[in-house]
Amino acid sequence: MSGLNDPSGLTRRAVLSGMAGAGTVALSASGESTSTAGNAKPQRASETRWDVIVVGAGVFGAWTAWNLRREGRSVLLVDAWGPAHARASSGGESRMTRTAYGSDDLYARWAWESLEDWKWLSQRSGLPILHQIGVLFFFAKAEPYYVQSVEAHRRLKIPLVELDRAALLRQYPQVSWDGIERGLFEPSLGVLMARRAVQTLVKEFVNAGGRYELMAIKAPAAGKTLASVETLGGVTLRAQQFVFACGPWLPKLFPEVLGARIFPTRQEVFFFAPPSGDTSFEPARMPGWADFNGGDIYYGMPDLEARGFKVAHDQHGVAIDPDRGDRSASAAGLAEVRTYMERRFPAMKGRPLVESRVCQYENSSNGDLLIDRHPAIDNVWLVGAGSGHGFKHGPAIGRYTAGLVTGKSRVTEPRLSLASKAEQQHRAVH
Ligand SMILES: Cc1cc2nc3c(=O)[nH]c(=O)nc-3n(C[C@H](O)[C@H](O)[C@H](O)COP(=O)(O)OP(=O)(O)OC[C@H]3O[C@@H](n4cnc5c(N)ncnc54)[C@H](O)[C@@H]3O)c2cc1C
Repeated sequence: MSGLNDPSGLTRRAVLSGMAGAGTVALSASGESTSTAGNAKPQRASETRWDVIVVGAGVFGAWTAWNLRREGRSVLLVDAWGPAHARASSGGESRMTRTAYGSDDLYARWAWESLEDWKWLSQRSGLPILHQIGVLFFFAKAEPYYVQSVEAHRRLKIPLVELDRAALLRQYPQVSWDGIERGLFEPSLGVLMARRAVQTLVKEFVNAGGRYELMAIKAPAAGKTLASVETLGGVTLRAQQFVFACGPWLPKLFPEVLGARIFPTRQEVFFFAPPSGDTSFEPARMPGWADFNGGDIYYGMPDLEARGFKVAHDQHGVAIDPDRGDRSASAAGLAEVRTYMERRFPAMKGRPLVESRVCQYENSSNGDLLIDRHPAIDNVWLVGAGSGHGFKHGPAIGRYTAGLVTGKSRVTEPRLSLASKAEQQHRAVH
Protein backbone atom coordinates (compact mmCIF):
# COMPACT_ATOMS: atom_id res chain seq x y z
CA MET A 1 0.00 0.00 0.00
CA SER A 2 1.31 3.41 -0.77
CA GLY A 3 0.11 6.98 -0.49
CA LEU A 4 1.25 10.49 0.25
CA ASN A 5 -0.16 11.03 3.67
CA ASP A 6 -1.96 7.88 4.53
CA PRO A 7 -0.76 4.29 4.35
CA SER A 8 -4.08 3.32 2.81
CA GLY A 9 -3.07 5.03 -0.43
CA LEU A 10 -5.92 7.56 -0.15
CA THR A 11 -4.63 11.08 -0.38
CA ARG A 12 -5.56 13.55 2.34
CA ARG A 13 -7.77 15.39 -0.13
CA ALA A 14 -9.63 12.21 -1.08
CA VAL A 15 -10.14 11.32 2.57
CA LEU A 16 -11.44 14.78 3.44
CA SER A 17 -13.78 15.00 0.45
CA GLY A 18 -14.90 11.46 1.09
CA MET A 19 -15.76 12.32 4.67
CA ALA A 20 -18.61 14.49 3.37
CA GLY A 21 -20.51 11.34 2.59
CA ALA A 22 -19.49 9.51 5.71
CA GLY A 23 -20.26 9.96 9.36
CA THR A 24 -22.75 8.55 11.74
CA VAL A 25 -25.71 6.64 10.43
CA ALA A 26 -29.22 6.93 11.79
CA LEU A 27 -32.28 4.85 10.97
CA SER A 28 -35.20 6.70 9.41
CA ALA A 29 -38.82 5.77 10.00
CA SER A 30 -38.82 3.72 6.79
CA GLY A 31 -35.94 1.64 8.05
CA GLU A 32 -33.57 3.22 5.54
CA SER A 33 -30.64 4.96 7.14
CA THR A 34 -29.62 8.52 6.44
CA SER A 35 -26.18 10.06 6.69
CA THR A 36 -25.82 12.80 9.31
CA ALA A 37 -22.24 13.75 8.54
CA GLY A 38 -20.82 17.25 8.88
CA ASN A 39 -22.39 19.80 6.57
CA ALA A 40 -23.61 17.25 4.06
CA LYS A 41 -27.33 17.12 3.47
CA PRO A 42 -28.85 13.94 4.87
CA GLN A 43 -29.15 11.71 1.86
CA ARG A 44 -30.77 8.34 1.46
CA ALA A 45 -28.73 5.51 -0.01
CA SER A 46 -31.55 5.07 -2.53
CA GLU A 47 -31.12 8.62 -3.88
CA THR A 48 -27.71 7.85 -5.37
CA ARG A 49 -26.72 5.68 -8.28
CA TRP A 50 -23.62 4.11 -6.78
CA ASP A 51 -20.62 3.04 -8.79
CA VAL A 52 -20.64 -0.21 -6.84
CA ILE A 53 -22.86 -1.80 -4.21
CA VAL A 54 -21.12 -4.49 -2.19
CA VAL A 55 -23.54 -6.87 -0.47
CA GLY A 56 -21.99 -8.54 2.59
CA ALA A 57 -19.70 -6.89 5.13
CA GLY A 58 -17.64 -9.94 6.05
CA VAL A 59 -13.91 -9.95 5.47
CA PHE A 60 -14.25 -10.41 1.69
CA GLY A 61 -16.87 -7.70 1.17
CA ALA A 62 -15.20 -5.22 3.52
CA TRP A 63 -11.78 -5.45 1.82
CA THR A 64 -13.45 -5.29 -1.61
CA ALA A 65 -15.41 -2.18 -0.65
CA TRP A 66 -12.29 -0.62 0.85
CA ASN A 67 -10.24 -1.24 -2.29
CA LEU A 68 -12.97 0.09 -4.57
CA ARG A 69 -13.17 3.23 -2.43
CA ARG A 70 -9.39 3.56 -2.68
CA GLU A 71 -9.84 3.56 -6.44
CA GLY A 72 -12.12 6.58 -6.03
CA ARG A 73 -15.41 4.75 -6.62
CA SER A 74 -18.63 5.67 -4.81
CA VAL A 75 -19.36 2.53 -2.83
CA LEU A 76 -22.30 1.38 -0.74
CA LEU A 77 -21.56 -1.58 1.52
CA VAL A 78 -24.58 -3.31 3.06
CA ASP A 79 -25.05 -6.18 5.45
CA ALA A 80 -28.19 -7.87 6.71
CA TRP A 81 -26.92 -8.25 10.30
CA GLY A 82 -23.79 -6.10 10.61
CA PRO A 83 -20.05 -6.45 9.94
CA ALA A 84 -18.67 -9.75 11.30
CA HIS A 85 -21.87 -10.53 13.20
CA ALA A 86 -22.21 -13.67 15.32
CA ARG A 87 -23.29 -16.00 12.48
CA ALA A 88 -20.99 -14.62 9.77
CA SER A 89 -17.96 -16.71 8.92
CA SER A 90 -15.84 -13.67 9.72
CA GLY A 91 -17.49 -13.23 13.12
CA GLY A 92 -15.18 -15.41 15.18
CA GLU A 93 -12.64 -14.28 17.75
CA SER A 94 -9.42 -15.24 15.95
CA ARG A 95 -8.16 -16.56 12.61
CA MET A 96 -4.74 -17.91 11.74
CA THR A 97 -2.64 -16.33 9.03
CA ARG A 98 -0.04 -18.68 7.58
CA THR A 99 1.89 -19.12 4.36
CA ALA A 100 2.51 -22.88 4.68
CA TYR A 101 0.15 -24.28 2.01
CA GLY A 102 2.13 -27.23 0.66
CA SER A 103 2.89 -26.67 -3.01
CA ASP A 104 0.19 -24.03 -3.37
CA ASP A 105 1.93 -20.83 -4.41
CA LEU A 106 -1.26 -18.81 -4.88
CA TYR A 107 -2.43 -18.96 -1.27
CA ALA A 108 1.10 -18.69 0.17
CA ARG A 109 1.60 -15.57 -1.95
CA TRP A 110 -1.78 -14.02 -1.12
CA ALA A 111 -1.31 -14.60 2.61
CA TRP A 112 2.12 -12.99 2.36
CA GLU A 113 0.92 -10.08 0.22
CA SER A 114 -1.93 -9.45 2.70
CA LEU A 115 0.38 -9.10 5.67
CA GLU A 116 1.27 -5.42 5.18
CA ASP A 117 -2.42 -4.51 5.00
CA TRP A 118 -3.15 -6.40 8.21
CA LYS A 119 -0.28 -4.56 9.90
CA TRP A 120 -1.66 -1.27 8.65
CA LEU A 121 -5.17 -2.10 9.92
CA SER A 122 -3.71 -3.22 13.24
CA GLN A 123 -2.01 0.17 13.62
CA ARG A 124 -5.26 1.98 12.87
CA SER A 125 -7.12 0.09 15.57
CA GLY A 126 -6.83 0.92 19.25
CA LEU A 127 -6.31 -2.78 20.00
CA PRO A 128 -4.18 -5.31 18.10
CA ILE A 129 -5.66 -6.94 15.02
CA LEU A 130 -2.54 -8.84 13.99
CA HIS A 131 -0.76 -10.72 16.77
CA GLN A 132 2.53 -11.41 15.00
CA ILE A 133 3.41 -14.34 17.23
CA GLY A 134 4.40 -16.80 14.51
CA VAL A 135 2.76 -20.03 13.40
CA LEU A 136 4.08 -23.50 14.15
CA PHE A 137 2.98 -26.35 11.86
CA PHE A 138 4.14 -29.81 12.97
CA PHE A 139 4.36 -33.20 11.27
CA ALA A 140 5.03 -36.85 12.10
CA LYS A 141 7.61 -36.97 9.32
CA ALA A 142 8.78 -35.04 6.28
CA GLU A 143 5.40 -35.48 4.56
CA PRO A 144 5.02 -34.19 0.97
CA TYR A 145 3.10 -31.20 2.42
CA TYR A 146 6.13 -30.38 4.60
CA VAL A 147 8.67 -30.71 1.77
CA GLN A 148 6.48 -28.75 -0.66
CA SER A 149 5.92 -25.97 1.89
CA VAL A 150 9.69 -25.63 2.35
CA GLU A 151 10.21 -25.48 -1.42
CA ALA A 152 7.40 -22.94 -1.86
CA HIS A 153 8.86 -20.66 0.80
CA ARG A 154 12.28 -20.81 -0.88
CA ARG A 155 10.71 -20.10 -4.25
CA LEU A 156 8.67 -17.17 -2.93
CA LYS A 157 11.44 -15.93 -0.61
CA ILE A 158 9.20 -16.05 2.46
CA PRO A 159 10.98 -16.69 5.78
CA LEU A 160 10.43 -20.18 7.20
CA VAL A 161 12.34 -22.01 9.92
CA GLU A 162 12.64 -25.81 9.86
CA LEU A 163 12.69 -27.34 13.34
CA ASP A 164 13.79 -30.87 14.13
CA ARG A 165 12.49 -32.86 17.09
CA ALA A 166 15.28 -31.67 19.40
CA ALA A 167 14.48 -28.03 18.64
CA LEU A 168 10.76 -28.63 19.22
CA LEU A 169 11.48 -30.27 22.58
CA ARG A 170 13.76 -27.43 23.62
CA GLN A 171 11.60 -24.52 22.47
CA TYR A 172 8.12 -25.80 23.32
CA PRO A 173 8.30 -28.00 26.43
CA GLN A 174 4.57 -27.46 27.06
CA VAL A 175 3.78 -29.67 24.03
CA SER A 176 4.02 -33.47 24.08
CA TRP A 177 6.00 -34.21 20.93
CA ASP A 178 5.17 -37.94 20.79
CA GLY A 179 5.20 -39.08 17.18
CA ILE A 180 6.39 -35.71 15.85
CA GLU A 181 9.67 -35.35 13.99
CA ARG A 182 9.37 -32.08 12.07
CA GLY A 183 8.16 -28.54 12.63
CA LEU A 184 7.82 -25.51 10.38
CA PHE A 185 7.87 -22.12 12.06
CA GLU A 186 6.60 -19.07 10.18
CA PRO A 187 8.05 -16.18 12.20
CA SER A 188 6.33 -13.30 10.38
CA LEU A 189 2.79 -14.67 10.51
CA GLY A 190 0.41 -15.21 13.43
CA VAL A 191 -3.18 -14.64 14.45
CA LEU A 192 -5.77 -12.08 13.33
CA MET A 193 -8.54 -10.87 15.63
CA ALA A 194 -11.33 -11.54 13.16
CA ARG A 195 -14.38 -9.62 14.33
CA ARG A 196 -12.28 -6.64 15.41
CA ALA A 197 -10.50 -6.61 12.05
CA VAL A 198 -13.68 -6.45 9.97
CA GLN A 199 -15.37 -3.89 12.20
CA THR A 200 -12.28 -1.67 12.17
CA LEU A 201 -12.01 -1.93 8.40
CA VAL A 202 -15.64 -0.94 7.88
CA LYS A 203 -15.02 2.08 10.10
CA GLU A 204 -11.97 3.00 8.00
CA PHE A 205 -14.04 2.56 4.84
CA VAL A 206 -16.72 4.93 6.15
CA ASN A 207 -14.09 7.45 7.28
CA ALA A 208 -12.69 7.36 3.74
CA GLY A 209 -16.05 8.30 2.25
CA GLY A 210 -17.63 4.89 1.79
CA ARG A 211 -21.20 4.33 2.93
CA TYR A 212 -22.25 1.42 5.11
CA GLU A 213 -25.89 0.46 5.75
CA LEU A 214 -27.61 -2.28 7.71
CA MET A 215 -29.86 -3.71 4.98
CA ALA A 216 -30.87 -7.15 3.76
CA ILE A 217 -30.86 -7.52 -0.02
CA LYS A 218 -33.29 -9.77 -1.89
CA ALA A 219 -32.01 -12.18 -4.53
CA PRO A 220 -31.48 -10.13 -7.71
CA ALA A 221 -33.84 -10.40 -10.64
CA ALA A 222 -32.75 -12.35 -13.71
CA GLY A 223 -31.61 -10.40 -16.74
CA LYS A 224 -28.53 -9.48 -18.71
CA THR A 225 -27.72 -6.38 -16.65
CA LEU A 226 -28.84 -5.52 -13.14
CA ALA A 227 -30.01 -1.94 -12.64
CA SER A 228 -30.94 -2.17 -8.97
CA VAL A 229 -31.48 -4.42 -6.00
CA GLU A 230 -34.32 -4.40 -3.48
CA THR A 231 -33.99 -4.55 0.28
CA LEU A 232 -36.32 -6.66 2.40
CA GLY A 233 -37.71 -3.33 3.63
CA GLY A 234 -38.75 -2.43 0.06
CA VAL A 235 -36.00 0.12 -0.70
CA THR A 236 -34.53 0.18 -4.22
CA LEU A 237 -30.77 0.66 -4.48
CA ARG A 238 -29.16 1.44 -7.85
CA ALA A 239 -25.59 0.93 -8.98
CA GLN A 240 -23.49 0.32 -12.05
CA GLN A 241 -21.97 -2.82 -10.60
CA PHE A 242 -22.83 -5.21 -7.77
CA VAL A 243 -20.56 -7.46 -5.74
CA PHE A 244 -22.22 -10.23 -3.73
CA ALA A 245 -19.79 -11.32 -0.98
CA CYS A 246 -22.37 -13.17 1.08
CA GLY A 247 -20.31 -16.04 2.50
CA PRO A 248 -22.50 -19.07 3.37
CA TRP A 249 -25.62 -17.22 2.18
CA LEU A 250 -24.44 -17.14 -1.46
CA PRO A 251 -26.17 -20.44 -2.35
CA LYS A 252 -29.47 -19.02 -1.01
CA LEU A 253 -29.19 -15.86 -3.09
CA PHE A 254 -28.07 -17.67 -6.24
CA PRO A 255 -29.55 -21.16 -5.94
CA GLU A 256 -29.27 -22.02 -9.62
CA VAL A 257 -25.66 -20.95 -9.96
CA LEU A 258 -24.25 -21.78 -6.51
CA GLY A 259 -26.80 -24.04 -4.81
CA ALA A 260 -24.80 -27.14 -5.72
CA ARG A 261 -21.35 -25.54 -5.75
CA ILE A 262 -20.92 -24.08 -2.24
CA PHE A 263 -21.24 -26.47 0.69
CA PRO A 264 -21.67 -24.75 4.10
CA THR A 265 -20.47 -27.10 6.87
CA ARG A 266 -20.88 -26.83 10.63
CA GLN A 267 -17.61 -26.18 12.49
CA GLU A 268 -17.07 -26.14 16.24
CA VAL A 269 -14.27 -24.33 18.09
CA PHE A 270 -13.46 -24.55 21.78
CA PHE A 271 -11.59 -22.35 24.26
CA PHE A 272 -10.13 -23.71 27.51
CA ALA A 273 -8.70 -21.91 30.56
CA PRO A 274 -4.99 -22.66 31.12
CA PRO A 275 -3.86 -23.44 34.68
CA SER A 276 -3.62 -20.27 36.76
CA GLY A 277 -0.14 -18.80 36.83
CA ASP A 278 1.02 -21.01 33.95
CA THR A 279 2.53 -18.73 31.31
CA SER A 280 3.33 -21.49 28.83
CA PHE A 281 0.11 -20.99 26.85
CA GLU A 282 0.49 -17.23 26.58
CA PRO A 283 1.31 -15.75 23.15
CA ALA A 284 4.83 -14.87 24.27
CA ARG A 285 5.62 -18.58 24.58
CA MET A 286 3.13 -20.27 22.29
CA PRO A 287 2.53 -19.34 18.62
CA GLY A 288 -0.54 -20.18 16.56
CA TRP A 289 -0.20 -23.88 15.81
CA ALA A 290 -1.44 -26.65 13.55
CA ASP A 291 -0.87 -30.39 13.89
CA PHE A 292 -0.85 -31.92 10.38
CA ASN A 293 -1.81 -35.23 11.98
CA GLY A 294 -1.55 -37.21 8.74
CA GLY A 295 -3.83 -34.73 6.95
CA ASP A 296 -6.55 -34.77 9.65
CA ILE A 297 -5.54 -31.36 10.98
CA TYR A 298 -6.13 -29.97 14.47
CA TYR A 299 -5.17 -26.35 15.08
CA GLY A 300 -5.37 -23.65 17.68
CA MET A 301 -4.15 -20.44 19.23
CA PRO A 302 -2.53 -19.51 22.51
CA ASP A 303 -4.47 -17.83 25.31
CA LEU A 304 -4.84 -14.60 23.32
CA GLU A 305 -6.12 -11.65 25.30
CA ALA A 306 -6.85 -14.14 28.10
CA ARG A 307 -9.87 -15.53 26.18
CA GLY A 308 -8.70 -19.13 26.50
CA PHE A 309 -6.52 -21.66 24.68
CA LYS A 310 -8.31 -22.38 21.38
CA VAL A 311 -8.49 -25.87 19.86
CA ALA A 312 -10.45 -26.98 16.78
CA HIS A 313 -10.63 -29.90 14.39
CA ASP A 314 -10.29 -28.79 10.76
CA GLN A 315 -12.36 -31.71 9.43
CA HIS A 316 -15.54 -30.65 7.59
CA GLY A 317 -18.63 -31.01 9.78
CA VAL A 318 -22.17 -31.79 8.67
CA ALA A 319 -24.12 -29.47 6.36
CA ILE A 320 -25.55 -26.36 8.02
CA ASP A 321 -28.11 -23.73 7.12
CA PRO A 322 -26.52 -20.42 8.24
CA ASP A 323 -29.93 -19.00 9.24
CA ARG A 324 -31.37 -21.93 11.16
CA GLY A 325 -28.40 -24.10 12.15
CA ASP A 326 -28.01 -24.93 15.85
CA ARG A 327 -25.18 -22.87 17.33
CA SER A 328 -24.63 -24.92 20.46
CA ALA A 329 -21.51 -27.07 20.41
CA SER A 330 -21.98 -30.82 20.64
CA ALA A 331 -20.83 -33.04 23.49
CA ALA A 332 -19.17 -35.31 20.90
CA GLY A 333 -17.23 -32.41 19.39
CA LEU A 334 -16.06 -31.29 22.80
CA ALA A 335 -14.99 -34.81 23.77
CA GLU A 336 -13.05 -35.24 20.53
CA VAL A 337 -11.18 -31.95 20.90
CA ARG A 338 -10.53 -32.57 24.60
CA THR A 339 -9.05 -36.00 23.85
CA TYR A 340 -6.75 -34.49 21.26
CA MET A 341 -5.77 -31.54 23.48
CA GLU A 342 -4.97 -33.67 26.51
CA ARG A 343 -2.73 -35.93 24.41
CA ARG A 344 -0.76 -33.07 22.86
CA PHE A 345 -0.88 -30.47 25.68
CA PRO A 346 -0.78 -32.48 28.94
CA ALA A 347 -1.00 -29.43 31.24
CA MET A 348 -4.43 -28.69 29.71
CA LYS A 349 -5.85 -32.00 31.00
CA GLY A 350 -9.17 -31.41 32.73
CA ARG A 351 -9.02 -27.66 32.25
CA PRO A 352 -12.42 -25.94 32.13
CA LEU A 353 -14.11 -25.07 28.88
CA VAL A 354 -14.59 -21.29 28.87
CA GLU A 355 -16.22 -20.76 25.49
CA SER A 356 -17.38 -22.65 22.44
CA ARG A 357 -18.58 -21.36 19.08
CA VAL A 358 -20.28 -22.91 16.09
CA CYS A 359 -19.40 -21.30 12.80
CA GLN A 360 -19.52 -22.53 9.22
CA TYR A 361 -17.06 -23.09 6.43
CA GLU A 362 -18.55 -22.27 3.02
CA ASN A 363 -16.59 -24.78 0.98
CA SER A 364 -16.08 -24.96 -2.73
CA SER A 365 -15.61 -28.43 -4.15
CA ASN A 366 -11.83 -28.38 -3.64
CA GLY A 367 -11.19 -25.44 -1.28
CA ASP A 368 -10.44 -22.84 -3.93
CA LEU A 369 -12.03 -19.45 -3.45
CA LEU A 370 -14.66 -18.10 -5.84
CA ILE A 371 -14.12 -14.70 -7.50
CA ASP A 372 -15.92 -14.37 -10.80
CA ARG A 373 -18.52 -12.56 -12.80
CA HIS A 374 -22.06 -13.97 -12.65
CA PRO A 375 -22.49 -16.24 -15.70
CA ALA A 376 -25.66 -14.48 -16.90
CA ILE A 377 -25.73 -10.98 -15.32
CA ASP A 378 -22.75 -9.07 -16.64
CA ASN A 379 -22.47 -6.42 -13.89
CA VAL A 380 -22.77 -8.86 -10.96
CA TRP A 381 -19.72 -10.36 -9.26
CA LEU A 382 -19.67 -13.38 -6.94
CA VAL A 383 -17.05 -13.50 -4.20
CA GLY A 384 -16.89 -16.24 -1.58
CA ALA A 385 -16.16 -19.91 -0.90
CA GLY A 386 -13.62 -19.07 1.83
CA SER A 387 -13.52 -22.83 2.52
CA GLY A 388 -12.17 -22.51 6.06
CA HIS A 389 -8.99 -20.66 5.06
CA GLY A 390 -10.12 -17.43 3.44
CA PHE A 391 -9.84 -14.85 6.21
CA LYS A 392 -6.10 -14.22 5.98
CA HIS A 393 -6.39 -13.48 2.23
CA GLY A 394 -8.98 -10.71 2.73
CA PRO A 395 -6.72 -7.84 1.56
CA ALA A 396 -5.52 -9.75 -1.52
CA ILE A 397 -9.09 -10.82 -2.35
CA GLY A 398 -10.27 -7.22 -2.04
CA ARG A 399 -7.53 -5.97 -4.38
CA TYR A 400 -8.09 -8.71 -6.94
CA THR A 401 -11.86 -8.24 -6.95
CA ALA A 402 -11.65 -4.45 -7.14
CA GLY A 403 -9.29 -4.78 -10.11
CA LEU A 404 -11.78 -6.96 -11.97
CA VAL A 405 -14.78 -4.79 -11.10
CA THR A 406 -13.08 -1.57 -12.23
CA GLY A 407 -11.66 -3.27 -15.30
CA LYS A 408 -8.14 -2.26 -14.28
CA SER A 409 -6.94 -5.86 -14.22
CA ARG A 410 -7.76 -9.12 -15.92
CA VAL A 411 -8.38 -12.59 -14.56
CA THR A 412 -5.01 -14.00 -13.54
CA GLU A 413 -6.29 -16.87 -11.40
CA PRO A 414 -8.57 -19.15 -13.47
CA ARG A 415 -8.80 -21.58 -10.56
CA LEU A 416 -10.99 -19.02 -8.75
CA SER A 417 -13.53 -19.04 -11.58
CA LEU A 418 -17.08 -20.33 -11.33
CA ALA A 419 -16.35 -22.76 -14.16
CA SER A 420 -13.74 -24.49 -11.99
CA LYS A 421 -16.25 -25.15 -9.18
CA ALA A 422 -17.48 -28.74 -9.26
CA GLU A 423 -20.60 -30.18 -7.67
CA GLN A 424 -18.76 -32.99 -5.86
CA GLN A 425 -16.49 -32.27 -2.91
CA HIS A 426 -12.83 -33.30 -3.23
CA ARG A 427 -10.94 -31.16 -0.77
CA ALA A 428 -7.49 -30.35 -2.12
CA VAL A 429 -6.57 -27.06 -0.40
CA HIS A 430 -5.52 -27.36 3.25
C1 LIG B 1 -14.38 -22.01 12.66
C2 LIG B 1 -13.69 -21.32 11.54
C3 LIG B 1 -12.31 -21.20 11.57
C4 LIG B 1 -11.64 -20.58 10.53
N1 LIG B 1 -10.30 -20.43 10.63
C5 LIG B 1 -9.64 -19.71 9.71
C6 LIG B 1 -8.27 -19.44 9.88
O1 LIG B 1 -7.66 -19.84 10.89
N2 LIG B 1 -7.65 -18.71 8.93
C7 LIG B 1 -8.30 -18.23 7.84
O2 LIG B 1 -7.66 -17.58 7.02
N3 LIG B 1 -9.62 -18.48 7.65
C8 LIG B 1 -10.30 -19.20 8.55
N4 LIG B 1 -11.63 -19.42 8.41
C9 LIG B 1 -12.32 -19.02 7.17
C10 LIG B 1 -12.73 -17.56 7.15
O3 LIG B 1 -13.21 -17.15 8.39
C11 LIG B 1 -13.78 -17.35 6.05
O4 LIG B 1 -13.23 -17.85 4.82
C12 LIG B 1 -14.15 -15.88 5.86
O5 LIG B 1 -14.50 -15.29 7.08
C13 LIG B 1 -15.31 -15.77 4.88
O6 LIG B 1 -15.70 -14.43 4.81
P1 LIG B 1 -16.88 -13.93 3.90
O7 LIG B 1 -16.79 -12.45 3.86
O8 LIG B 1 -16.88 -14.66 2.60
O9 LIG B 1 -18.21 -14.42 4.62
P2 LIG B 1 -19.00 -13.85 5.90
O10 LIG B 1 -18.07 -13.40 6.95
O11 LIG B 1 -20.00 -14.86 6.30
O12 LIG B 1 -19.72 -12.56 5.37
C14 LIG B 1 -20.85 -12.63 4.52
C15 LIG B 1 -21.78 -11.50 4.92
O13 LIG B 1 -22.82 -11.40 3.95
C16 LIG B 1 -23.98 -10.96 4.63
N5 LIG B 1 -25.17 -11.27 3.83
C17 LIG B 1 -25.55 -12.50 3.44
N6 LIG B 1 -26.69 -12.40 2.73
C18 LIG B 1 -27.01 -11.10 2.69
C19 LIG B 1 -28.08 -10.35 2.10
N7 LIG B 1 -29.07 -10.97 1.42
N8 LIG B 1 -28.11 -9.02 2.26
C20 LIG B 1 -27.13 -8.39 2.97
N9 LIG B 1 -26.10 -9.03 3.54
C21 LIG B 1 -26.04 -10.37 3.41
C22 LIG B 1 -23.93 -11.75 5.93
O14 LIG B 1 -24.74 -11.13 6.92
C23 LIG B 1 -22.45 -11.74 6.26
O15 LIG B 1 -22.11 -10.72 7.16
C24 LIG B 1 -12.35 -20.06 9.42
C25 LIG B 1 -13.73 -20.18 9.39
C26 LIG B 1 -14.40 -20.78 10.45
C27 LIG B 1 -15.89 -20.87 10.40
